[in-house]
Amino acid sequence: MQTNEQEFLQVEHFLKDHDDFLVVSHVQPDGDAVSSTLVVGWLLSCLGKNYVMVNEGPIPQRMSYLLHSDRIMDLSVTPLTKSYKHIICVDCADFRRVGKASEYFAADAKILNIDHHPTNDGFGSINLIVPDAAATVQVLFDLVKWLNLSLDHDTATAIYTGLLTDTGGFRYSSTSPRVMAMASELLEYGVDGPALSQLLLEEMTLPQIRLLTRALNGLQMSEDGKISWVTINDEDMKLTGAIHEDLEGIVNYPRNIQNVEVGLLFKVIDDNAVKVSMRSAGKVDVAAVAQAFGGGGHVRAAGVRMQGSLDAVVLQIVEQVKARL
Ligand code: AMP
Ligand code: MN
Ligand code: MN
Repeated sequence: MQTNEQEFLQVEHFLKDHDDFLVVSHVQPDGDAVSSTLVVGWLLSCLGKNYVMVNEGPIPQRMSYLLHSDRIMDLSVTPLTKSYKHIICVDCADFRRVGKASEYFAADAKILNIDHHPTNDGFGSINLIVPDAAATVQVLFDLVKWLNLSLDHDTATAIYTGLLTDTGGFRYSSTSPRVMAMASELLEYGVDGPALSQLLLEEMTLPQIRLLTRALNGLQMSEDGKISWVTINDEDMKLTGAIHEDLEGIVNYPRNIQNVEVGLLFKVIDDNAVKVSMRSAGKVDVAAVAQAFGGGGHVRAAGVRMQGSLDAVVLQIVEQVKARL
């Protein structure tokens, strides 16, 4: 935390000197994105500030247990009536990740960019980017301490949620001693760790199981067995009754095959757009692969939204991964 003292001071001033904030995370938010939005909201409440929390789309149903998650406005349903001059972006690797929420940023808006992606391009007026943090909530936990605020049970639950989901249940290489110390402290606040693991990492809906089955039926491997991928299209979604959040975790299956270095999930968005999720066993930097096409992420987990047909995108990505093996 000490190494970021200058940034923390700047952030403190940004929060204390202004009012009427717009808090936003990335499109199709994950546990860290939702939790980070809520922690910032709570922090602004503590400082007596006005703010709105938004996202381009809906919050995953699975996260509705998070206090005030229902206050995060889904802009596809409830557009805002004005634009904002003070923006706080959390867990967004680049400006495009905020999606349509940026329509409500005033032309002269000041952006506070709080994130943990090594590929973050520093798009904010103020940037608090901690690439070795396991999750954005880890950075926010330090910020809470910096501001001398005392956590409550619900905020502790949100922070734990972000840590748990972004570390895959405290398993990824980002699970540092610091992460475990934080988790331990959060448990002291009465956070129900096992219940959250069950809900967020174990439990599956029936449509989700059916979607996984269909995806695995079409599993493909490169000739050398080092790259494995699955594809999901609209028909798969319709026939199984799955919703977007049911895609979570599917990419781990190709990745977990013995000797596979890179696992990929290609999700067709429309005739000319595909979302690619990438997971690496460690040898290939998938953030670099994603970045080559305009996306981003971490060494072992990255993503990108690409233009083109499914076949064209698969070919481009697999070639790019092969070149780095
Ligand atoms: P996902 O495959 O969507 O679970 O994303 C894996 C990691 O890559 C997460 O840390 C995301 O924040 C990041 N990521 C996913 N898509 C993009 C994108 N289009 N641009 C930048 N980072 C991304
Ligand atoms: Mn995220
Ligand atoms: Mn994150």
